[in-house]
Amino acid sequence: MRKRRGVRGFLRLVGSFAGLSGAALLGVYLWQPQRIELFPKEPPTDLAPVDPAGLGLLRPGSRVLLVTAHPDDEAFYVGGTLLRLREAGAVVRLVVMTDGDKGYYPFHDSRGTGRVRRAEQQRAAELFGIQSVRFLGLPDGRLQADERSVDALAEEIRSFRPQFLLAFDPEYVRRVYHRDHRRAGEAAVRAAERAGFSGWALLFSTSAANGGLDVTAQWPEAQRLLGVHESQFFGARLAYIQSMVDGRARAAATELGLSGRRVEPFRAVRLGRER
Ligand SMILES: [Zn+2]
Repeated sequence: MRKRRGVRGFLRLVGSFAGLSGAALLGVYLWQPQRIELFPKEPPTDLAPVDPAGLGLLRPGSRVLLVTAHPDDEAFYVGGTLLRLREAGAVVRLVVMTDGDKGYYPFHDSRGTGRVRRAEQQRAAELFGIQSVRFLGLPDGRLQADERSVDALAEEIRSFRPQFLLAFDPEYVRRVYHRDHRRAGEAAVRAAERAGFSGWALLFSTSAANGGLDVTAQWPEAQRLLGVHESQFFGARLAYIQSMVDGRARAAATELGLSGRRVEPFRAVRLGRER
């Protein structure tokens, strides 16, 4: 009798330990911003291939609004594209939704980190040929596609009147994604609707690309400019990030039959009414 109670007690103890550590793991997963897409949406089958270069994107004076979540997303996802836009003489405005004050080092002084990252973003923007940058200062790691952020972006769209929108793909995310990125994309697409935007959205960080820009000629500079965000990418980490971004651009090129070149992939979708 006493022995059985001992076994039961032991099992209860094991059970509550497993329960507690399960809850702790779930808590950590929910707290940190990386998400795993367990059941990725199948890419749509009716998505016609689109060549972003053929849309008038690279004309002098073409107006492009880029919406990102963090200072460094522009270099990480669309660095080559920005350099092509600079060469073409496009007018680019960048809206960064957070100050990236959590960064990759969550225990640093966040106000200090925010200041440093804003300054890095300003400098990177100048080098990428971006005409103007706006920081919305929303919470890093806890970004919401709520009224506040949608309204702020809709206001940007109304005042800047872009012909093209560059934003994170909120729908067909990659297998592992940053929650802020998806929400920045969600907010951008909803804001475009609200502001009556009519034109092409080029959605990046997507699992359903239907086209891409060849950025081979711009690539060495794009890789170098990743280093402007030096509070995030320095030393071995910079080399790692550069090779990761390079691998992605190579893979996107291969997918488009451009083996050996570098491509930044997009899901191009037409938003609003036909013009
Ligand atoms: Zn980011």
